[in-house]
Amino acid sequence: MTSLLRLTGLLGGGRAGAMSLCGRHLRTLHGTSRLAAAGSKVNMGSEFRAAALQKTLTTTPKALVPKEKLAFGHTFSDHMLTAEWTAKDGWGTPQIRAYGPLSLDPSCSVFHYAFECFEGLKAYRDAQGQVRLFRPDKNMERMNHSVERLYLPQFDGAQVIECIKELVRTDQRWVPEGRGYSLYIRPTMIATENTLGVHRANSALLYVITSPCGPYFPTGFKAVSLYCDETNVRAWPGGVGNRKMGANYAGSVGPQVEAEKRGYQQVLWTIGEDHELMEVGTMNLFILWRNEGGELELVTPPLDGTILPGVTRDSVLELVRGWGEFKVSERKINMKQIARASDEGRLLEIFGAGTACVVTPVNRIHFKGKDYKVPLDPADPGSQAGPVTGRIYQALMDIQYGVVPSKWSVLVD
Ligand SMILES: *Cc1c(COP(=O)(O)O)cnc(C)c1O
Repeated sequence: MTSLLRLTGLLGGGRAGAMSLCGRHLRTLHGTSRLAAAGSKVNMGSEFRAAALQKTLTTTPKALVPKEKLAFGHTFSDHMLTAEWTAKDGWGTPQIRAYGPLSLDPSCSVFHYAFECFEGLKAYRDAQGQVRLFRPDKNMERMNHSVERLYLPQFDGAQVIECIKELVRTDQRWVPEGRGYSLYIRPTMIATENTLGVHRANSALLYVITSPCGPYFPTGFKAVSLYCDETNVRAWPGGVGNRKMGANYAGSVGPQVEAEKRGYQQVLWTIGEDHELMEVGTMNLFILWRNEGGELELVTPPLDGTILPGVTRDSVLELVRGWGEFKVSERKINMKQIARASDEGRLLEIFGAGTACVVTPVNRIHFKGKDYKVPLDPADPGSQAGPVTGRIYQALMDIQYGVVPSKWSVLVD
């Protein structure tokens, strides 16, 4: 198939020369449009169609970065996926083309009013050399949820996944080998209208870039300390904290720097007079404790609209519920409860969960002038993670790397 494609290094110049892909990978796509109903709200013209995908390969492939040298989010593969949308015509032709700069007008609405949302998922290489995605349908569902609030165009997630698969196949030499290594995939949508008016966008761009990355903790787990921020709030009821919109992140950097200056690695976000726990940095939060009633319980804050509905969060919940070994709850928990549990020796493990790190163990929390210790593994003084945290980490990676078969793991080829 590749040999049929005309090669051109010109960004966007491939439209005339590139051919529509109608190879084996895309032939199965016609007809099904599961999310078409959801898409009809904003989308008036053509639906997003993977079958229309065009591919124009770069003429200047880059040298691979040795995998030991990969720092998260710094290296990008050779190609990207782009698709333009206009209110008049709907989705245009999706294209795989050379990774490179976009040309946007300074008045473009994304620059002024943060009309942007994104996703983060990974492609993993299994022991047989095959490439796998982890629950990509969940990312597409969440992106459509972000898009909805921004009033940007929705799309059929299954169609975009087919295009992402083709992008990963195209750049498969960029998927590093080894457990802990992966190709991070960043779908993004921006409004592209050239106007300073604050109103719904009449044009948008969906693009997907990919970035090879190594394990979050190259030398094994490293527990992090948290600073409970009493001043700044990440999200609030009725806000957009449950959507992966860029606007949620810029404002978190100042508090993060302040926490670092005080000697803590991440911000613990809370809300309200009682300091109800929300998230840690850009991860969902899990607490394993012996609750006030003496039960062993894994708690995570509920999806009340202020918390990002993590794919990892959802996976941890389903996995641990499947074990059936202790109580698993989505419910509110506040800093006073955490402090008391710590003082009384009932706090067992705390970890953050997200695609980038899988899980990150927490070893202490600063709250109102005091540090509350979270034990790691009491049986192993040198440990950086509690036994349940470590077990969840391994279990999720086993699925992501195809060691343990699961419907969550989707083969790219
Ligand atoms: C992306 C993100 C998460 C984790 O979501 P995953 O789907 O598990 O990667 C958690 N919290 C915030 C604020 C996030 O942006």
